[in-house]
Amino acid sequence: MLIVQKYGGSSLGSADHVKNVARKIQRTVEQGHQVVVVVSAMGDNTDDLLELATKLSVNPSARELDQLLSTGETQSSALMAMTLEHFGVPAKSFSGRQAGIITSYDYGKARIEQVDPRELRNALAVGITPVVAGYQGVTRSGDVATLGRGGSDLTAIAIANALGADRCEIYSDVAGVYTADPRIIPAASPLGMLNYDEMLELSSQGAQVLQTQAVEFARGQQVPIYARSTFTDEPGTIIREGKKESVEKPPVTAIALNRHIAKVGLIGVPDAPGVAALLFQELGESGINVELIIQALSHNQLNDIAFTIEEDDVEAAEPIVQRCLEKLGGNALSIDTQVAKVSAIGSGMLGRPGVAARVFKALANGHINIQMIGTSEIKISCIIDRDDAERAMRLIHEEFHLGQSQEMIED
Ligand code: ASP
Ligand code: MG
Repeated sequence: MLIVQKYGGSSLGSADHVKNVARKIQRTVEQGHQVVVVVSAMGDNTDDLLELATKLSVNPSARELDQLLSTGETQSSALMAMTLEHFGVPAKSFSGRQAGIITSYDYGKARIEQVDPRELRNALAVGITPVVAGYQGVTRSGDVATLGRGGSDLTAIAIANALGADRCEIYSDVAGVYTADPRIIPAASPLGMLNYDEMLELSSQGAQVLQTQAVEFARGQQVPIYARSTFTDEPGTIIREGKKESVEKPPVTAIALNRHIAKVGLIGVPDAPGVAALLFQELGESGINVELIIQALSHNQLNDIAFTIEEDDVEAAEPIVQRCLEKLGGNALSIDTQVAKVSAIGSGMLGRPGVAARVFKALANGHINIQMIGTSEIKISCIIDRDDAERAMRLIHEEFHLGQSQEMIED
């Protein structure tokens, strides 16, 4: 088989970690498989470089940042290649450019436009294991661009797709995807399989297992993903298109929590055409992502509009919203950063009434007030007080019986 194996930063935190991963790769090669390795930067290297940059420049240029941040992955790839060679496995490191990855010009969040895997194929043909630096590619003018945080996942999936690999395995410090973050809900159970839509909702609602753009790419190209732990032999989770299931799926597959959001409210803006257009156009043009939006029934020709944004965007959003409020002649602005979003996700809720009511009942039984509600076909999200976040997650997890049975935890 031709296998792409991607190893995340926490699997490469030290020289010993690199050796451990190299042994794992060696075992796969010795089983007779061809392997293409994709590596992230070691440990917290990317964060450290970012911190260093902000110490030296208030507003570093996006091009220079990418030039800098990409070096973390370049280092890992060379270090991994020499470790493999030391173990007797012929190997060669590749930067994004050397691996044929062409990206868009959006520094810091570039999209992969094309992969020309010729050089990787040439290496494989002569028995060399390529070790590709993740998270990076080059623009058509040859500048390095990075693929957004967690972007090595995208590198691995794009390369697996370009090579027509038999599998794409993504290794991290967790054994795949769980019904909830096991650090918050110790009873959470591992999920054997998820479809792309569920994984996409989970990733974008705050589960940190796979990069959202990577899941989107995998869905578009139908690349199955095997998410596994570097440190255990657990089977992990397969993410692929859902087959027609003979047994009925449970309504909820997993619960996600995002504690890093803020709630913005405009109170008493005119109930007239163009109000929402003005507000959300201005936010959009500044690159601020808006998620849940609520505008309820109007009263006395006035409306209240509320929406959520990422907490990191509050500073940029506040002056924009303030300006809109003044332009529109609204009454007041409120920004609440003490909120969290808890989401129940599952394609089993499609066409099944009553699932939302069960989520709300679970929260009501815990005396947790719901401030905003948002839904998609396969997701129910509630905005609640941040202090209640973890309890809310547990209550919904219990309501849908997602935990492992007690005996399973004990043995
Ligand atoms: N090193 C980059 C990050 O920390 C990319 C990655 O790990 O996939 O975001
Ligand atoms: Mg990382």
